[in-house]
Amino acid sequence: MRLASEPLNPKRREEVQWISFNQSAVEGGSIMGMHDVIQEHLPFTASVLAVCAHPDDESFGLGAALSTWADQGTRVSVLSFTHGEASTLGANRGNLHQLRANELATAAGELGVETVRLLKYPDGRLTEEPSDKLSADVRSAVELVDASLLLVFDEGGITGHSDHVRATEIATAVAGEIGIPVLGWALPEAIAAQLNDEFAATFVGRHREEIDLSVEVDRSRQHRAIRCHASQSSENPVLWRRLELQGDREVLRWLDPGHAMVGSQPSA
Ligand SMILES: [Zn+2]
Repeated sequence: MRLASEPLNPKRREEVQWISFNQSAVEGGSIMGMHDVIQEHLPFTASVLAVCAHPDDESFGLGAALSTWADQGTRVSVLSFTHGEASTLGANRGNLHQLRANELATAAGELGVETVRLLKYPDGRLTEEPSDKLSADVRSAVELVDASLLLVFDEGGITGHSDHVRATEIATAVAGEIGIPVLGWALPEAIAAQLNDEFAATFVGRHREEIDLSVEVDRSRQHRAIRCHASQSSENPVLWRRLELQGDREVLRWLDPGHAMVGSQPSA
C-alpha cells in the first residue's frame, strides 16, 4: 500500500492518510513530524475511555470531545484517579471527597458517559504513587469497557498540574503496551499564551504543526456538565475565558508512537 504520488483533493487525501496510519507502522515509516493534513473529525471508534486525574477534567477539558463521540454512537467512559478533594475551590461547600464524586456522576450523565470509574488516589500527589499500581487500574478499566481508544490531557497536562501530567504518562504507556491509540486534548499555542497573559497561568499550548485534529464541536452538553461541577466552576473565570477563546473548536494530538507517524509518507 502506497500513497498516491499525484496531488489528491483534500477529501481523498484525508482518506488515504487515515489508511496510511497503520501502513506506515507496518512498513517502518519514520517519524517526520509533518502534519500537512489536519483531520476535521473525531475518529470513528467503538469505545473511548477518558483517563483523568480529577473529577471535572472530563467536563472542563474533555467534555466537548466526549459528548461529540457519544452523539456519534461511540461508547464513552471515564476513569478519574482521584476525588479532587485537595481543590482550593469549593472547600466551604462541605466534604469535597463526596461532593465531587456526586458532581462527577451527574456531569457524566450530561455528557452521555456510560461508565465512570472513580478511584481514591490522593489528589495532588499522583506522582508519588507507584506507576505499576496506576497502570493496573487503567488496564482494568480498559478491559471493563473494552476501550478501543484512550483520551487524555495533552502531555504537559494543559494547566501544568503534575497530576494531569502523570495521568497522561500512565495512560499513554498502557495504551502502548496493549496496542490501542491515545489522543491528547490540546490547546492552541495562541490561546494558552493569551490565558497565561491574562491570568498569570501556566497553560501549555501547541504549534499548528503539532496538532493532528481540529474538530468543530457543539459545547452545549459540555456547558451543562460543567455546571454540574458547581464547586469548581462557579467561581472559575479562567475556565470560562478559555472556553470563550476556544469557541467551537477542539484540537487534539496523537500521543502514541504509531499515530505520531501521521504525515510520514512511505518512499515511492
Ligand atoms: Zn484536573
